[in-house]
Amino acid sequence: MSSSDSQAVLDRAADGDRLTPEEALGLYRSAPLHALGRAADARRRALFGDTAHIATYIIDRNINYTNVCVTACKFCAFYRAPKHEEGWVRSTEEILRRCGEAIELGATQIMLQGGHHPDFGIEWYEETFSAIRSTYPSLALHSLGASEVVHIARVSGLDFPTVIARLHAAGLDSFAGAGAEILTERPRAAIAPLKETGAMWLQVMETAHGLGVESTATFMMGTGETNAERIEHLCMIRDVQDRTGGFRSFIPWTYQPENNHLKGQTQASVLEYLRLVAVARLFFDNIRHLQGSWLTVGKEVGQLTLHYGADDLGSVMLEENVVSSAGARHRSNRSELIHLMRTAGRTPAQRDTLYNHLVVHDDPANDPVDVVPSHFASTALTLEPA
Ligand code: SF4
Repeated sequence: MSSSDSQAVLDRAADGDRLTPEEALGLYRSAPLHALGRAADARRRALFGDTAHIATYIIDRNINYTNVCVTACKFCAFYRAPKHEEGWVRSTEEILRRCGEAIELGATQIMLQGGHHPDFGIEWYEETFSAIRSTYPSLALHSLGASEVVHIARVSGLDFPTVIARLHAAGLDSFAGAGAEILTERPRAAIAPLKETGAMWLQVMETAHGLGVESTATFMMGTGETNAERIEHLCMIRDVQDRTGGFRSFIPWTYQPENNHLKGQTQASVLEYLRLVAVARLFFDNIRHLQGSWLTVGKEVGQLTLHYGADDLGSVMLEENVVSSAGARHRSNRSELIHLMRTAGRTPAQRDTLYNHLVVHDDPANDPVDVVPSHFASTALTLEPA
């Protein structure tokens, strides 16, 4: 694609015209970086109108209930095979304790995530969600994902709609987009041969959306996929979204190379990441929110995503173990995220799971100063002031 061709396509996309997959690939490969960012930012501003000056974050806690997993994804540094001496399972009491601690620190959302434990059928999840829901009714349970639905269906001998409906009835509000990794068939089979196919991941999400359980969609870049396969991943999600409208946001991040079987032989660069964020903003005319990842690409690049189409920086995570196990060393806190947003020219706002603004930090003099118990510091991201 020549630069005059790409500028014409960028202008159309910034105005809201739908990009074809071929156009998206052409832009991803060869549009000048800053022109790409400008177009994505123009699209974001048009999309958000009166609230385009705001960038959002959420306070949540990832709670991992087990690291025991039968799926053995090659990029994963978190899991342990069944019977491994380092395998563990958290009790319901411990999960509830962590939920209570999160609420005290301002969390509005819990993400329960864990391995595919061979003994965990639908009853384990129902009991756990019911216990959280009855103890902490205000917490949004944005948890699990399509992979867990497939696993539970297999363990319990149920179909997908039944698993989803029972999880929802037990208290699950929405599915996290984890487990998408890359949906395109060839690279997915190479990095996660025992996981469900990308088509099945989407089928579960489409079923969930039809049953009133919305979700996010994610993308883990950098495990050896081609540029065309990256764009195909976006296409697969956009096609489902055309039918359901159930993906609230798109969240790309980068593969972390430590302690896993892929051994970091491939990795997405920062510029590839920024290009993907911008193309995603232009390509997804049917997904409202786009989250930049600071956990995997760093705070400075996370801040830059706000100029490449992102409207949200995701979570001040009170705890995260899965991506951190694979080498994500970046740490942040609420004060720092607020600062990143301000110095990107945005007004920071704390949001809830549904992207409602809970607190708009429109006066820097009133910015919160956070304090967390010291035991968080060793295993978790802190809320201490920068
Ligand atoms: S990514 Fe999830 S499903 Fe895959 S091995 Fe790790 S814990 Fe298991």
